[in-house]
Amino acid sequence: MKIRIGAALAMVMALGAANADAQPAKNIDAHLAAAKAAAEFDFTGTLARTCIAPQTGPGRDVAPGPAPDRKTWFTEPAKVFDNLYFVGTKIHSSWALTGSDGIILIDTLYDYASEEAIVGGLKKLGLDPTKVKYVIVSHAHGDHVGGAKLMQDRFGPRLVMGAPDWDAIEKSVNQYPHGKPKRDIVAADGQKITLGDASVTLILTPGHTPGTISMIFQVKDNGRPLTIAYSGGTAFNFVNDVPHFDTYINSQRKMAEAAARANATILMSNHSEFDSAVTKIKLMAARKPGEPHPFEIGAEAVARYFKVTDECAQAARLKLL
Ligand SMILES: [Zn+2]
Repeated sequence: MKIRIGAALAMVMALGAANADAQPAKNIDAHLAAAKAAAEFDFTGTLARTCIAPQTGPGRDVAPGPAPDRKTWFTEPAKVFDNLYFVGTKIHSSWALTGSDGIILIDTLYDYASEEAIVGGLKKLGLDPTKVKYVIVSHAHGDHVGGAKLMQDRFGPRLVMGAPDWDAIEKSVNQYPHGKPKRDIVAADGQKITLGDASVTLILTPGHTPGTISMIFQVKDNGRPLTIAYSGGTAFNFVNDVPHFDTYINSQRKMAEAAARANATILMSNHSEFDSAVTKIKLMAARKPGEPHPFEIGAEAVARYFKVTDECAQAARLKLL
C-alpha cells in the first residue's frame, strides 16, 4: 500500500513538473522580453529591480539599523517645478507641493534623514516647515514613513495613509523605537487632498503593501501646467504568492489607466532608482531656456513604466505556478 501511494505520488509530481516546465517557461520569457522592450533606457532601474533581480518576500518586523554615513545619502534640496520642491536623499524622494494655503508634503524618508533633508531642506529653499498642512505617505515602509512622526509632532499637519498601512504601523512591535505616528486620515480611492490651489488625487494601488497610495497631481513649469503620475510602491518585497501578484498587477493597470486619463507626461516614484529623480535634478542645472524639462518624458513613456512593472510581475507570478 505504501509503495503504491509512493508511486502514485511520484507520478503526480512528475506530471506537475512537466506541466510547470512546458508552457509557462515560454510565457515567462515573453513577459521578460516585453518588460525589457518597454523599459528602453528610461526605466532600467525599475527593470533591474522587478525583472532581473526581484525581491521575493517581505522584510521582518525589526528595528531600523544604525543611520548610514551622511555622505551616502545627503544631496542638496532643489526647486524642480514652479510649485514642486525636492527635499529627498540620493536614494529616496520627498516632495513639497506648494499652494496658496500651504504645503502638501509627499513621503518622509527614513527617520535618520528627515530632520536634515526635509525640515532643513525646506528652510534652505526658503519654505516654512510650519506651512506643511498635509503629509501623504505612499506606504508604511521605513524609507517613506520614517519622518512622519517628526512632522506630525512638530508641525501638526494632517497625516494621510492607506488603512491597511495604518494597521501595520499599529501592529508593529519593533519598527518604531522612537514612537509611531498617530492614526489620522485614512486614504480613500479617488480622494482629493486639496490645499488652496494645490491638489493631489489619491489612487489606491495595493500590492507593494496592502495600503499603497499612488497619486496624480499637477505642477507648473514656467507657468505651463504638467501632470505627474506618482507610483507609490514598486518592488516585490511582499508575500510572493499568486493572489498578491494579482493584486499588484491590477494596481499597475489601474494606475496606468489613471495616468493616461489625466494625460500625465511625468512619472515619479519614491526611489531615485525607479525615476532617476536625483540625476534629472542635476540635469536641470544645464537646462537652457526653451529646452524641455528633464522630468517631462511624455504620456507614452509614462505608460511604458507601468508596462514594465506589469510584465515583470506577470513573469514572477508565472514562476510560482
Ligand atoms: Zn516599500
